[in-house]
Amino acid sequence: MSNSSCSSNQLFLQPLWDLSRTFVQSAFFPVIFAITTYVGFCLPFVVLDALYPWVPALRRYKIHPDFSPSAGQLLPCLKLTFYQHVMFVFPVTLLHRVCSPDNLPLDAPGLPELVCHVVICLLLFDAEFFAWHLLHHKVPWLYRTFHKVHHQNSLSFALATQYLSAWELFSLGFFDMVNVTLLGCHPLTVLVFHVVNIWLSVEDHSGYDFPWSTHRLVPFGWYGGVVHHDLHHSHFTCNFSPYFTHWDKLLGTLR
Ligand SMILES: [Zn+2]
Ligand SMILES: [Zn+2]
Repeated sequence: MSNSSCSSNQLFLQPLWDLSRTFVQSAFFPVIFAITTYVGFCLPFVVLDALYPWVPALRRYKIHPDFSPSAGQLLPCLKLTFYQHVMFVFPVTLLHRVCSPDNLPLDAPGLPELVCHVVICLLLFDAEFFAWHLLHHKVPWLYRTFHKVHHQNSLSFALATQYLSAWELFSLGFFDMVNVTLLGCHPLTVLVFHVVNIWLSVEDHSGYDFPWSTHRLVPFGWYGGVVHHDLHHSHFTCNFSPYFTHWDKLLGTLR
């Protein structure tokens, strides 16, 4: 282990991993972690949407300044999220736990390894979902049967992120897990990747373009983010990558 990763571990990653290890062992951890992270990331945007009519300053950050989701839009999203996590995510993660019990390492990963694996997993996830997404728009039966439900909200908001068919949720979960497994990522890296992935997907649907939004922090227009994905929701025929722009540039679908 290099000196830099050793010191970063001693300062931050090792205590974090020591703390996480006790929770990670629980069979309920994956589903509780997935749902609390998702709802926790959505909550600030739900509050902003509720405050929006009384805080005119928020208007300049709204992609659609005259849109605010109603309770009739928010509640079905929340209900579907809880239903799918209980009915699908929990049994699948439980089965995975029973079939391949983890021997959790004692040592945390080094910081460079963690960052490198998270970036590779994001790039792979982006490519896999780009292919899935393009296919589900190009084949009408696939669109109608599996992806149309996500496009029910043409103006998106945070809680619409996981308004998905069970097949789309399963596919996203599969892409999320397959890369970390193939790369042999440390369990702490897997957790960090899940958190980053959930945050980026919620930000994509939030409807807010802040000065600190990810697409403003990544240089050279490499990252599409919220503005990019919002155009996908309103136009259907462009911007199929969830995060980065290179696949849409290559296939001529970037708008
Ligand atoms: Zn789509
Ligand atoms: Zn979307």
